[in-house]
Order: sequence, then structure tokens, then C-alpha cells
Amino acid sequence: MRPELEALPDRMRDLPVDDRGYPVPWFVAWLDGKPEFRAMDAEKWIRAVRERRCWVCGHRLGQWLTFVVGPMCGINRTTSEPASHLECARWSARNCPFLSRPNMVRREDETTQACENAGIPIKRNPGVSLLWTARSFSIFNDGAGKPVIQLHDPESLEWWCEGKPATRAEVEHSVDTGIPIIEEIARADGEDAMQDLARRKQWLTTLYPPATFLCAASAERAFK
Ligand SMILES: [Zn+2]
Repeated sequence: MRPELEALPDRMRDLPVDDRGYPVPWFVAWLDGKPEFRAMDAEKWIRAVRERRCWVCGHRLGQWLTFVVGPMCGINRTTSEPASHLECARWSARNCPFLSRPNMVRREDETTQACENAGIPIKRNPGVSLLWTARSFSIFNDGAGKPVIQLHDPESLEWWCEGKPATRAEVEHSVDTGIPIIEEIARADGEDAMQDLARRKQWLTTLYPPATFLCAASAERAFK
């Protein structure tokens, strides 16, 4: 394993390691004997949901289910990625280059095209990762024949950015830049959808990390 990576949680220790020294998560699709990190294995998706297996390590989940999602999924309460153990989700948020480096852009090339057939392509770059821990979830059809996971009420939330706990400002920035996209969809659906979206956003706002305290000197200046 690469020296900069943190020690793996117990359940991730039997994952294969790729040529670069990264452990290969269970969900990753394999093409011609090589892990294709940009695609998830469609068969694993079904097993993860049916057998309640961890998306990252593949072992069985207990009563707690941690979904690694972007903040917009927290507002929509939907995701395409099944749950993980909290430890596996945290390790991923702290070490996975895609999750821990928000400015990394996914390479789009003929391999991603090939993955369209091999599995479900992962295109989003969440910037801020939200670890949404709940006891249950449900599945619904997205209308185009694809199953989508509906997130149930969380028991706890953790915010991560660049491998560290996210600040309130980072979360606000991520939501403010992502919200216009889902607002546009809601606007097309009418006034009720817009109000519903505003309510959901307001609810998530109450669960942002607390603001960083000003140091005494700057606080004094600010309140003079
Ligand atoms: Zn796990």
C-alpha cells in the first residue's frame, strides 16, 4: 500500500491492492483483469442491497448503514450508492483520492464509455462528502427503469472535505454551488416542488458543522 494511506480498518484488509498501491473497493468493476475505479459493478450493487453488504469492503453490515453522499443527495434524500460500515466510509472519505480531493476531475475517455456496458458509471465529484448514517433505506424506480436508494432519517451525519472534517464554510460553498442544478428541476415541477426543496435545504442547514470560532482579537474588532 502507498505510504501516505492510513492503516485499513479490519474489514478492508482482505481487499486487493492495485499496481499503484490503492486498495480496490468491493464495488469497483473489473475489466480485463484490471480494476476500473470509475465504474461500479452492477451485480455487486444488487448483492449490496439484497444481502446488506458494505459497498466498500463487501462484508455484511450490522444495524447501522452509512451512505457516502454529496450534499445535494442529502437534500434530495436519494443516492445511487449502497451503504457501508461507518469505519469503511470514514477511511474512504479520508483517503480515497476521488473523495478527499474535491478538485480532481474524472477522466472521461473510451474506458468510461466501455463501462457504460460493464456497470453503472460514476460521474459525480461531490467535493464535500456527507456520511449519512441510518438504520434503514428504501428503493424506488427513477422512472427510467433504474433503481434509486431513498435515504431514511439519519441518526448521525459527518461532513468531510479534502480528507479532513469539513468546515461550515466548505459545506455552505458546496451546497450553494450545487443547489441551482436541483432548483432548476424543481422549478420545472412547479411551486410545490420549489417549496419542498426550500424546506429540505433549510432542514439540512440545521445540521451543518458549527461555524469556526473567531479568535478573541478579531471577534473584538467585529463587535466594536
Ligand atoms: Zn465495510
